[in-house]
Amino acid sequence: MEFIDSHVHLADPAFDADRDEVIERARRSGASALVCIGESLDAARRCRALAERYPDVCYYTAGVHPHDAASFEADRDLDAIRAEVARGAVAIGECGLDYHYDHSPRDRQRMAFAGQLALAAELRRPVVVHTRDAEADTRAMVEEAGRGGVVGVLHCYTGSVELAEVALTAGWFVSFSGIATFRRWTGDDVIRAVPDDRLLVESDAPYLAPVPHRGKRNEPAWVSLTAARVAIVRGGDPVVLGARTADNARRLFGLA
Ligand SMILES: [Zn+2]
Ligand SMILES: [Zn+2]
Repeated sequence: MEFIDSHVHLADPAFDADRDEVIERARRSGASALVCIGESLDAARRCRALAERYPDVCYYTAGVHPHDAASFEADRDLDAIRAEVARGAVAIGECGLDYHYDHSPRDRQRMAFAGQLALAAELRRPVVVHTRDAEADTRAMVEEAGRGGVVGVLHCYTGSVELAEVALTAGWFVSFSGIATFRRWTGDDVIRAVPDDRLLVESDAPYLAPVPHRGKRNEPAWVSLTAARVAIVRGGDPVVLGARTADNARRLFGLA
């Protein structure tokens, strides 16, 4: 099965001991590309080094995660993200809103997210969006960004069909992770609501390993398990779904 891992934190220290082997296992499992998520400027710099080491396999993004929005400084951080895009980052993020953990005050989260959406509009780059327990504000901000021509992905999606449809109407994509393989998963209706040409799959590694690896350190090779589960829910062939979602990731992120 060919697939693209559209969201992996490959710069995470969890991979320091065996990062090259992790990439090799992903390749052998069918990964044609890995989108390495820079959830901070520091992570983005490390992801850039991976993209340079593995051209045409590793791509990277740069942004500020909602958990870190309290320390977001618009002038400094937007300039730094702009510089990463100039150096080859394919998207802005991950950014967004997380009212589940509330690691940063909500007004700071909205400010950091709005700043990154505005930068995406200015640079005409896609955004990678994290949203949890923040549907009303996410909806309003995605709709406004969409009107400004911004496209993006709701990553590791666990929200409502309604919010997914708002994003899809704005031309966005929806990505599913290993959570879709968990026994407590209740989102099959959302999996079915996403059209073939807007669907992505991801690991979100090192977190959220799919069944039967649940609880272990996750890695991109196991995206094939998530893709298989998503294909079953949609009544399709896993190999076709892997190829289709890979095409979608190439289109969204402008990959080679
Ligand atoms: Zn996230
Ligand atoms: Zn992430």
